[in-house]
Amino acid sequence: MDSIAPARQDEPAPPPVPAANGAGRPSLVGADMAGLGEAVRALGEPPFRAKQLRHWIYHRGARGFEEMTSISKAARAKLAERYTLGRPAPADAQVSADGTRKWLLRFPDASEAEMVFIPEEDRGTLCISSQVGCTLNCRFCHTGTQPWVRNLGAGEIVGQLMLARDALDDWPSGRKDRKITNIVLMGMGEPLYNYDNVARAAGIMTDGDGIAISRRRLTLSTAGVVPVMRQCGEELGVNLAVSLHAVTDAIRDEIVPLNRRYPIAELLDACRNYGGVNNARRITFEYVMLKGVNDRDADARELVRLLKDIPAKINLIPFNPWPGAPYECSREKRIRAFMTICLDGGLTCTVRTPRGRDIMAACGQLKSASERKRAAARA
Ligand code: SAH
Repeated sequence: MDSIAPARQDEPAPPPVPAANGAGRPSLVGADMAGLGEAVRALGEPPFRAKQLRHWIYHRGARGFEEMTSISKAARAKLAERYTLGRPAPADAQVSADGTRKWLLRFPDASEAEMVFIPEEDRGTLCISSQVGCTLNCRFCHTGTQPWVRNLGAGEIVGQLMLARDALDDWPSGRKDRKITNIVLMGMGEPLYNYDNVARAAGIMTDGDGIAISRRRLTLSTAGVVPVMRQCGEELGVNLAVSLHAVTDAIRDEIVPLNRRYPIAELLDACRNYGGVNNARRITFEYVMLKGVNDRDADARELVRLLKDIPAKINLIPFNPWPGAPYECSREKRIRAFMTICLDGGLTCTVRTPRGRDIMAACGQLKSASERKRAAARA
């Protein structure tokens, strides 16, 4: 016969646990020092446990409380009863011939987002998502054709990096040969429309006693949410990339509809005033090359004029086509001519090399491939 465990008299009833990360025990991934402090206080543990947790979770990459050997067994058991160290689940993972890796992530509510790792000689860049879907509907972007779902929580944003570091065997944080050196928020979503979660995640990723990614190696890409740009510059001090893509309001209104709310002149003013801008920390302007739309010599000359008083670099992005896209990518010769005008005008200008083409590592494509697979399975 099973014995019935007596009610425990020695401990106060635990306070209700916030239902982060779906039902059940919440994950501590995404908790900053304040959050870890609350978690240990709720368990009646001394405050120094929060620092120990930070070390194990964000410096060492612990995936279970039992690994935390500097914490007493009893405390580890209490932690494990109430919390997990869960990360997003990889629903699909692919490696390209050029070393690019792509993951499709599934969150507990079954929503999905993508993540890409791009290894280069001198760095490794992880591209992560800030939302599931996007509300901006840029006309050349595949995510815009997918339904809007929701903001990702701070834990789901940091959790992407944690999962990638698990997969790449990239723990602990202090190593000289770390594989992920740079983070870009250029996956799905508009990070400045999910500012609070992105800010908390940025704080955790740049904490020197935890994940310890330098603020200079964390880049947030925005389509230009002008009022939040100032706050971002003052509070986060991360690098900014701005999706400019056009030099006239008429064309930008069409391809980046957010421009109707925050037109080019206002956007560039916000760039001029972005905290910490100087020649050492330039703003990157992303410019997608769309054949016959924004790629004329006159556009390049206007770009030089618009950016002349802003510490800028231009990143020309060959348009990555998707089925049914209303645009084509500019020819290589056109992109080179455009770049030459920018360089002659004194701007720093690079062309993004397409990576991971064999695994469709372009915006929004893995997610839709998985949706097609499921639709086919249902049919
Ligand atoms: N919402 C943010 C970040 C996500 S998009 C932003 O707009 O910046 C990241 C970058 O990919 C943006 O510069 C976006 O314009 C670009 N992009 C989206 N779809 C693309 C495509 N099909 N080909 C090339 N670049 C694309």
